[in-house]
Amino acid sequence: MRDLALGADLACINTATLGFREPLEITARRVAEAGFGFITPWRQEVDELHPERAAQVIRDTGLKVGGYCRTEYFTADDGAGRAAAVESNRRAVEVAAILGAPFVVAVVGGLAPNARDLRGCREQILEGLEALKPTLKATGVAIALEPLHPFYAADRSLLNTVEQARRWCERLDPHGEGLFGIAVDAYHVWWDPDLEASLERASDRIMALHVCDWMRQTGDPLLDRGMMGDGVIELARLREAVESHGFEGPVEIEIFSKENWWKRPPQEVLRICRERMNTVV
Ligand code: ZN
Repeated sequence: MRDLALGADLACINTATLGFREPLEITARRVAEAGFGFITPWRQEVDELHPERAAQVIRDTGLKVGGYCRTEYFTADDGAGRAAAVESNRRAVEVAAILGAPFVVAVVGGLAPNARDLRGCREQILEGLEALKPTLKATGVAIALEPLHPFYAADRSLLNTVEQARRWCERLDPHGEGLFGIAVDAYHVWWDPDLEASLERASDRIMALHVCDWMRQTGDPLLDRGMMGDGVIELARLREAVESHGFEGPVEIEIFSKENWWKRPPQEVLRICRERMNTVV
């Protein structure tokens, strides 16, 4: 296993970890000063009409861009809504190219607001992803499909396991052109009894590894993620599994924590993230 204690430049901070309290310029500077090598910004932090500015801000710090978060949900109650989502997601891909991000993370959407048709909504998502292919080919930016914990199936994502993501990759990118891959987020997949076998089957598709921790008693499955080492996930084991299948990208820290980590000073959060990367992940 690679030793992040010797090379924190292999670690990435997803800016959600700091709670979006400061502009990207300041966040990027803090991340670089804390010794991380990569940053993954969110769309809300970037002026997508003038993304060159954000690209410059990040370049000035010496950081590389790990990925770009994230797609809008592909499901909608009508065709106009679905078309608007594709259009927005196309723009995300173009902006990612300007930022130098290798992929856009896809949170694909749950059931459309007035739908109960699981199968139909999954098809809507696949059709939306398919529609991005010309832009992916033109820009060289990929889509990293992120399976979400099934808790979110109704409202955020009908993509819920690594194996399902692998099958979608096979369908969307049958020749393995690198257009679609998988973002493995420990928080979403740790519970899956088929995880290790799924990772092995998906090995050439893994584009990202997101880490945080699942608290045994969680107050809010969306915004109460734990710091690595404070919860129940065997993070070192997951990382070893992913890396043993050839994943060489940065390990990305992504902690949504409204009542705890988002209230602490950003420098403190980053310092503890670094420590835990060395001791836990
Ligand atoms: Zn994630």
